[in-house]
Amino acid sequence: MSEVLVLVDHVDGAVRKPTYELLTIAKRLGEPSAVFIGDAGKASEVADKVKKYGAEKVYAVDDAQIKGYLVAPKAEALQQLAEKVGSDGGVAAVLIPSSIEGKEIAGRLAIKLGSGLITDAVDVQEGPVTTQSVFAGNYTVTAKVTQGTPIITVKPNSAAPEEAVGAGTVEEFSSEVSDAAKGAQIVATQPRKATGRPDLNEAAIVVSGGRGTGGDFTPVEELADALGGAVGASRAAVDSGWIPHSFQIGQTGKTVSPQLYIAAGISGAIQHRAGMQTSKTIVAINKDEEAPIFELVDFGVVGDLKTVLPAATEDVNKRKG
Ligand code: FAD
Repeated sequence: MSEVLVLVDHVDGAVRKPTYELLTIAKRLGEPSAVFIGDAGKASEVADKVKKYGAEKVYAVDDAQIKGYLVAPKAEALQQLAEKVGSDGGVAAVLIPSSIEGKEIAGRLAIKLGSGLITDAVDVQEGPVTTQSVFAGNYTVTAKVTQGTPIITVKPNSAAPEEAVGAGTVEEFSSEVSDAAKGAQIVATQPRKATGRPDLNEAAIVVSGGRGTGGDFTPVEELADALGGAVGASRAAVDSGWIPHSFQIGQTGKTVSPQLYIAAGISGAIQHRAGMQTSKTIVAINKDEEAPIFELVDFGVVGDLKTVLPAATEDVNKRKG
Protein backbone atom coordinates (compact mmCIF):
# COMPACT_ATOMS: atom_id res chain seq x y z
CA MET A 1 0.00 0.00 0.00
CA SER A 2 1.40 3.45 -0.88
CA GLU A 3 2.24 5.82 1.93
CA VAL A 4 0.34 9.00 2.65
CA LEU A 5 2.64 11.66 4.07
CA VAL A 6 1.03 13.81 6.76
CA LEU A 7 2.88 16.93 7.86
CA VAL A 8 2.63 17.07 11.66
CA ASP A 9 1.16 20.32 12.98
CA HIS A 10 2.88 20.99 16.30
CA VAL A 11 4.21 23.66 18.63
CA ASP A 12 7.62 22.66 19.99
CA GLY A 13 6.70 18.97 19.73
CA ALA A 14 3.19 19.37 21.20
CA VAL A 15 1.03 17.79 18.48
CA ARG A 16 -2.05 19.78 17.49
CA LYS A 17 -5.47 18.30 16.71
CA PRO A 18 -5.40 18.92 12.91
CA THR A 19 -2.61 16.29 12.73
CA TYR A 20 -4.97 13.61 14.05
CA GLU A 21 -7.64 14.73 11.59
CA LEU A 22 -5.18 14.40 8.71
CA LEU A 23 -4.05 10.95 9.89
CA THR A 24 -7.70 9.86 10.00
CA ILE A 25 -8.12 11.04 6.41
CA ALA A 26 -4.78 9.45 5.41
CA LYS A 27 -6.05 6.02 6.47
CA ARG A 28 -8.73 6.25 3.78
CA LEU A 29 -6.09 6.78 1.10
CA GLY A 30 -3.23 4.46 2.01
CA GLU A 31 -0.72 3.89 4.79
CA PRO A 32 -0.38 6.94 7.04
CA SER A 33 3.16 8.22 7.67
CA ALA A 34 3.64 11.26 9.87
CA VAL A 35 6.36 13.75 8.97
CA PHE A 36 7.67 15.54 12.03
CA ILE A 37 9.89 18.53 11.26
CA GLY A 38 11.16 19.64 14.65
CA ASP A 39 13.51 18.94 17.52
CA ALA A 40 14.93 15.43 17.00
CA GLY A 41 14.80 14.87 20.78
CA LYS A 42 10.98 15.10 20.68
CA ALA A 43 10.47 12.58 17.84
CA SER A 44 9.67 9.59 20.06
CA GLU A 45 7.22 11.65 22.13
CA VAL A 46 5.50 12.71 18.88
CA ALA A 47 5.51 9.10 17.63
CA ASP A 48 3.72 7.98 20.81
CA LYS A 49 0.95 10.47 20.05
CA VAL A 50 0.52 9.95 16.31
CA LYS A 51 0.65 6.16 16.35
CA LYS A 52 -2.60 6.23 18.31
CA TYR A 53 -4.18 7.69 15.18
CA GLY A 54 -2.77 5.13 12.77
CA ALA A 55 0.70 6.47 11.86
CA GLU A 56 2.75 3.44 10.79
CA LYS A 57 5.93 5.46 10.33
CA VAL A 58 7.14 8.75 11.72
CA TYR A 59 9.76 10.45 9.59
CA ALA A 60 11.75 12.69 11.91
CA VAL A 61 13.42 15.62 10.19
CA ASP A 62 15.66 17.43 12.66
CA ASP A 63 15.00 21.14 12.29
CA ALA A 64 18.36 22.31 13.67
CA GLN A 65 19.32 23.62 10.19
CA ILE A 66 15.78 24.72 9.36
CA LYS A 67 14.17 26.50 12.27
CA GLY A 68 15.88 29.85 11.79
CA TYR A 69 14.36 30.20 8.35
CA LEU A 70 10.91 30.67 6.88
CA VAL A 71 9.04 27.91 5.06
CA ALA A 72 11.34 27.22 2.08
CA PRO A 73 13.57 24.64 3.85
CA LYS A 74 10.50 22.74 5.08
CA ALA A 75 9.22 22.49 1.51
CA GLU A 76 12.64 21.21 0.41
CA ALA A 77 12.69 18.61 3.19
CA LEU A 78 9.23 17.38 2.19
CA GLN A 79 10.24 17.27 -1.48
CA GLN A 80 13.32 15.18 -0.71
CA LEU A 81 11.35 12.87 1.55
CA ALA A 82 8.50 12.47 -0.98
CA GLU A 83 11.03 11.61 -3.69
CA LYS A 84 12.73 9.03 -1.48
CA VAL A 85 9.48 7.42 -0.32
CA GLY A 86 8.20 7.64 -3.91
CA SER A 87 11.15 5.62 -5.21
CA ASP A 88 10.79 3.08 -2.37
CA GLY A 89 7.11 2.24 -2.76
CA GLY A 90 5.09 5.25 -3.82
CA VAL A 91 3.35 8.21 -2.22
CA ALA A 92 -0.44 8.20 -2.53
CA ALA A 93 -0.77 11.80 -1.34
CA VAL A 94 0.77 14.48 0.83
CA LEU A 95 -1.63 15.99 3.38
CA ILE A 96 -0.82 19.34 4.96
CA PRO A 97 -2.85 21.46 7.41
CA SER A 98 -4.55 24.44 5.73
CA SER A 99 -2.76 27.05 7.81
CA ILE A 100 -1.05 30.04 6.22
CA GLU A 101 2.31 28.29 6.62
CA GLY A 102 0.89 24.94 5.48
CA LYS A 103 -0.49 26.43 2.28
CA GLU A 104 2.82 28.11 1.46
CA ILE A 105 4.72 24.87 2.02
CA ALA A 106 2.17 23.02 -0.15
CA GLY A 107 2.47 25.54 -2.99
CA ARG A 108 6.26 25.34 -3.01
CA LEU A 109 6.16 21.55 -2.77
CA ALA A 110 3.75 21.25 -5.69
CA ILE A 111 6.10 23.24 -7.92
CA LYS A 112 9.14 21.24 -6.80
CA LEU A 113 7.44 17.89 -7.44
CA GLY A 114 5.59 19.02 -10.59
CA SER A 115 2.38 17.93 -8.88
CA GLY A 116 -1.17 19.20 -8.72
CA LEU A 117 -2.30 20.98 -5.58
CA ILE A 118 -5.70 21.34 -3.93
CA THR A 119 -6.04 23.76 -1.03
CA ASP A 120 -8.66 24.21 1.70
CA ALA A 121 -10.29 20.81 1.26
CA VAL A 122 -13.12 20.16 3.73
CA ASP A 123 -13.25 16.46 2.94
CA VAL A 124 -10.99 13.94 1.24
CA GLN A 125 -12.14 10.48 0.23
CA GLU A 126 -10.58 7.56 -1.62
CA GLY A 127 -9.15 8.60 -4.99
CA PRO A 128 -8.15 10.97 -3.49
CA VAL A 129 -11.23 13.00 -4.30
CA THR A 130 -11.53 16.26 -2.41
CA THR A 131 -14.46 18.48 -1.48
CA GLN A 132 -14.04 22.24 -1.21
CA SER A 133 -16.64 24.71 -0.04
CA VAL A 134 -16.30 27.90 -2.09
CA PHE A 135 -17.98 31.28 -2.54
CA ALA A 136 -19.01 31.42 1.13
CA GLY A 137 -20.31 27.90 1.10
CA ASN A 138 -22.62 28.58 -1.85
CA TYR A 139 -20.85 25.99 -4.04
CA THR A 140 -19.38 22.62 -3.25
CA VAL A 141 -16.53 21.61 -5.55
CA THR A 142 -15.39 18.02 -6.01
CA ALA A 143 -11.86 17.79 -7.39
CA LYS A 144 -9.03 15.39 -8.10
CA VAL A 145 -5.35 15.98 -8.81
CA THR A 146 -4.51 14.66 -12.26
CA GLN A 147 -0.75 15.23 -12.33
CA GLY A 148 1.94 13.87 -10.06
CA THR A 149 1.52 13.18 -6.33
CA PRO A 150 -1.68 14.78 -5.01
CA ILE A 151 -0.80 17.52 -2.56
CA ILE A 152 -3.79 18.52 -0.49
CA THR A 153 -4.20 21.05 2.29
CA VAL A 154 -7.12 20.28 4.57
CA LYS A 155 -8.99 22.78 6.74
CA PRO A 156 -9.09 22.12 10.48
CA ASN A 157 -12.18 20.26 11.71
CA SER A 158 -12.76 18.55 8.35
CA ALA A 159 -12.71 15.09 9.93
CA ALA A 160 -13.37 13.75 13.41
CA PRO A 161 -10.09 12.18 14.62
CA GLU A 162 -10.48 8.40 14.87
CA GLU A 163 -8.16 6.38 17.03
CA ALA A 164 -6.39 3.52 15.21
CA VAL A 165 -3.33 1.52 16.12
CA GLY A 166 -0.21 2.25 14.06
CA ALA A 167 3.35 1.04 14.56
CA GLY A 168 4.74 4.59 14.89
CA THR A 169 8.22 3.47 13.82
CA VAL A 170 10.57 6.45 13.90
CA GLU A 171 12.85 6.86 10.87
CA GLU A 172 15.29 9.72 10.85
CA PHE A 173 15.50 11.63 7.60
CA SER A 174 18.13 14.27 6.99
CA SER A 175 17.37 16.81 4.34
CA GLU A 176 19.78 19.01 2.40
CA VAL A 177 18.90 22.68 2.70
CA SER A 178 19.94 24.73 -0.35
CA ASP A 179 21.37 28.25 -0.05
CA ALA A 180 18.35 29.56 -1.97
CA ALA A 181 16.02 28.21 0.73
CA LYS A 182 17.96 30.14 3.35
CA GLY A 183 17.16 33.46 1.67
CA ALA A 184 14.71 34.63 4.34
CA GLN A 185 15.79 34.34 7.94
CA ILE A 186 13.74 34.78 11.12
CA VAL A 187 15.47 37.39 13.27
CA ALA A 188 13.11 37.49 16.25
CA THR A 189 9.90 35.86 17.44
CA GLN A 190 7.53 36.96 20.12
CA PRO A 191 4.84 34.57 21.38
CA ARG A 192 1.35 36.01 21.56
CA LYS A 193 0.21 36.73 25.09
CA ALA A 194 -1.52 33.59 26.34
CA THR A 195 -5.23 34.08 26.98
CA GLY A 196 -5.57 30.91 29.06
CA ARG A 197 -8.41 29.88 26.74
CA PRO A 198 -8.32 26.89 24.39
CA ASP A 199 -7.22 27.34 20.81
CA LEU A 200 -10.15 28.37 18.60
CA ASN A 201 -9.53 25.52 16.15
CA GLU A 202 -9.50 22.92 18.89
CA ALA A 203 -12.07 24.24 21.38
CA ALA A 204 -15.11 22.08 22.18
CA ILE A 205 -17.08 25.24 22.99
CA VAL A 206 -16.88 28.56 21.15
CA VAL A 207 -18.70 31.72 22.21
CA SER A 208 -18.69 34.38 19.49
CA GLY A 209 -19.67 38.01 19.47
CA GLY A 210 -20.68 40.26 16.62
CA ARG A 211 -21.64 43.83 15.92
CA GLY A 212 -24.42 43.42 18.48
CA THR A 213 -21.85 43.54 21.28
CA GLY A 214 -21.35 47.20 20.46
CA GLY A 215 -17.63 46.63 21.03
CA ASP A 216 -17.85 45.30 24.58
CA PHE A 217 -16.74 41.65 24.46
CA THR A 218 -16.77 41.28 28.27
CA PRO A 219 -20.05 39.29 28.44
CA VAL A 220 -18.85 37.05 25.59
CA GLU A 221 -15.48 36.44 27.26
CA GLU A 222 -17.04 35.81 30.66
CA LEU A 223 -19.40 33.15 29.30
CA ALA A 224 -16.54 31.55 27.34
CA ASP A 225 -14.45 31.41 30.53
CA ALA A 226 -17.30 29.98 32.58
CA LEU A 227 -17.73 27.22 29.98
CA GLY A 228 -13.99 26.68 29.42
CA GLY A 229 -14.45 27.71 25.78
CA ALA A 230 -12.75 29.88 23.20
CA VAL A 231 -13.87 33.31 22.02
CA GLY A 232 -14.75 33.95 18.39
CA ALA A 233 -16.05 36.93 16.44
CA SER A 234 -17.80 38.00 13.28
CA ARG A 235 -15.99 40.02 10.68
CA ALA A 236 -18.03 43.10 11.58
CA ALA A 237 -16.53 42.96 15.10
CA VAL A 238 -13.04 42.38 13.74
CA ASP A 239 -13.32 45.15 11.12
CA SER A 240 -14.48 47.54 13.83
CA GLY A 241 -11.17 46.89 15.61
CA TRP A 242 -12.89 45.41 18.69
CA ILE A 243 -11.01 42.13 18.52
CA PRO A 244 -8.04 40.83 16.48
CA HIS A 245 -8.47 39.12 13.12
CA SER A 246 -7.24 35.82 14.56
CA PHE A 247 -10.64 35.51 16.30
CA GLN A 248 -12.69 35.82 13.11
CA ILE A 249 -14.93 32.91 12.19
CA GLY A 250 -16.12 32.54 8.63
CA GLN A 251 -15.25 32.42 4.98
CA THR A 252 -12.27 34.72 5.39
CA GLY A 253 -11.56 33.65 8.96
CA LYS A 254 -11.37 30.34 10.77
CA THR A 255 -13.58 27.29 10.28
CA VAL A 256 -14.68 25.77 13.56
CA SER A 257 -16.77 22.73 14.34
CA PRO A 258 -17.14 22.62 18.11
CA GLN A 259 -19.64 20.64 20.16
CA LEU A 260 -21.31 23.93 21.10
CA TYR A 261 -21.24 27.25 19.21
CA ILE A 262 -22.89 30.26 20.80
CA ALA A 263 -23.41 33.29 18.53
CA ALA A 264 -24.24 36.50 20.34
CA GLY A 265 -25.23 39.62 18.42
CA ILE A 266 -24.36 37.99 15.09
CA SER A 267 -26.93 38.20 12.26
CA GLY A 268 -25.86 34.98 10.51
CA ALA A 269 -24.56 36.21 7.16
CA ILE A 270 -23.66 33.44 4.73
CA GLN A 271 -19.94 34.28 5.07
CA HIS A 272 -20.12 33.80 8.84
CA ARG A 273 -22.08 30.56 8.53
CA ALA A 274 -19.37 29.18 6.24
CA GLY A 275 -17.09 29.03 9.26
CA MET A 276 -19.41 27.54 11.88
CA GLN A 277 -22.38 25.77 10.33
CA THR A 278 -20.95 22.28 10.99
CA SER A 279 -20.92 22.92 14.77
CA LYS A 280 -22.75 20.12 16.59
CA THR A 281 -25.10 22.37 18.61
CA ILE A 282 -25.70 26.00 17.70
CA VAL A 283 -27.22 28.56 20.05
CA ALA A 284 -27.91 32.17 19.08
CA ILE A 285 -28.79 35.21 21.12
CA ASN A 286 -30.14 38.06 19.05
CA LYS A 287 -32.62 40.81 19.79
CA ASP A 288 -34.11 40.57 16.30
CA GLU A 289 -36.33 37.51 16.02
CA GLU A 290 -36.07 37.73 12.22
CA ALA A 291 -32.26 37.44 12.26
CA PRO A 292 -31.14 34.82 9.71
CA ILE A 293 -28.96 33.08 12.32
CA PHE A 294 -32.17 31.65 13.82
CA GLU A 295 -32.62 29.56 10.64
CA LEU A 296 -29.76 27.26 11.61
CA VAL A 297 -29.85 27.17 15.38
CA ASP A 298 -30.73 24.32 17.72
CA PHE A 299 -31.69 26.85 20.41
CA GLY A 300 -32.43 30.51 19.95
CA VAL A 301 -32.88 33.25 22.52
CA VAL A 302 -34.56 36.48 21.39
CA GLY A 303 -33.13 39.06 23.73
CA ASP A 304 -30.40 41.52 24.54
CA LEU A 305 -27.03 39.80 24.85
CA LYS A 306 -26.07 42.25 27.58
CA THR A 307 -28.66 40.65 29.86
CA VAL A 308 -28.84 37.09 28.44
CA LEU A 309 -25.09 36.37 28.49
CA PRO A 310 -24.42 37.51 32.08
CA ALA A 311 -27.47 35.55 33.25
CA ALA A 312 -26.18 32.43 31.48
CA THR A 313 -22.69 32.96 32.93
CA GLU A 314 -24.07 33.33 36.42
CA ASP A 315 -26.08 30.15 36.07
CA VAL A 316 -23.14 28.17 34.67
CA ASN A 317 -20.91 29.36 37.51
CA LYS A 318 -23.59 28.51 40.07
CA ARG A 319 -23.92 24.96 38.69
CA LYS A 320 -20.13 24.56 38.74
CA GLY A 321 -20.33 25.39 42.43
P1 FAD B 1 -24.57 42.43 11.66
O1 FAD B 1 -24.93 41.75 10.41
O2 FAD B 1 -24.66 43.92 11.70
O3 FAD B 1 -25.50 41.81 12.79
C1 FAD B 1 -25.50 42.25 14.11
C2 FAD B 1 -26.63 41.49 14.80
O4 FAD B 1 -26.62 41.81 16.17
C3 FAD B 1 -28.02 41.84 14.29
O5 FAD B 1 -28.68 40.65 13.92
C4 FAD B 1 -28.71 42.52 15.48
O6 FAD B 1 -30.08 42.22 15.55
C5 FAD B 1 -27.96 41.91 16.64
N1 FAD B 1 -27.92 42.76 17.82
C6 FAD B 1 -27.64 44.08 17.92
N2 FAD B 1 -27.61 44.47 19.21
C7 FAD B 1 -27.86 43.37 19.96
C8 FAD B 1 -27.95 43.12 21.34
N3 FAD B 1 -27.74 44.09 22.24
N4 FAD B 1 -28.25 41.86 21.75
C9 FAD B 1 -28.46 40.85 20.87
N5 FAD B 1 -28.36 41.04 19.52
C10 FAD B 1 -28.07 42.27 19.07
N6 FAD B 1 -18.31 37.80 8.09
C11 FAD B 1 -17.88 36.96 9.04
O7 FAD B 1 -18.41 36.93 10.17
N7 FAD B 1 -16.82 36.13 8.77
C12 FAD B 1 -16.19 36.11 7.58
O8 FAD B 1 -15.23 35.34 7.41
C13 FAD B 1 -16.65 37.00 6.56
N8 FAD B 1 -16.07 37.00 5.33
C14 FAD B 1 -16.59 37.81 4.37
C15 FAD B 1 -16.08 37.75 3.08
C16 FAD B 1 -16.60 38.54 2.09
C17 FAD B 1 -16.03 38.44 0.70
C18 FAD B 1 -17.66 39.42 2.37
C19 FAD B 1 -18.26 40.30 1.28
C20 FAD B 1 -18.17 39.51 3.65
C21 FAD B 1 -17.66 38.71 4.66
N9 FAD B 1 -18.17 38.75 5.95
C22 FAD B 1 -17.72 37.87 6.88
C23 FAD B 1 -19.12 39.80 6.38
C24 FAD B 1 -20.57 39.33 6.43
O9 FAD B 1 -21.16 39.49 5.18
C25 FAD B 1 -21.35 40.14 7.47
O10 FAD B 1 -21.25 41.50 7.13
C26 FAD B 1 -20.87 39.97 8.90
O11 FAD B 1 -20.80 38.60 9.22
C27 FAD B 1 -21.85 40.66 9.84
O12 FAD B 1 -21.39 40.56 11.14
P2 FAD B 1 -22.42 40.65 12.34
O13 FAD B 1 -23.39 39.54 12.24
O14 FAD B 1 -21.63 40.76 13.60
O15 FAD B 1 -23.09 42.07 12.13
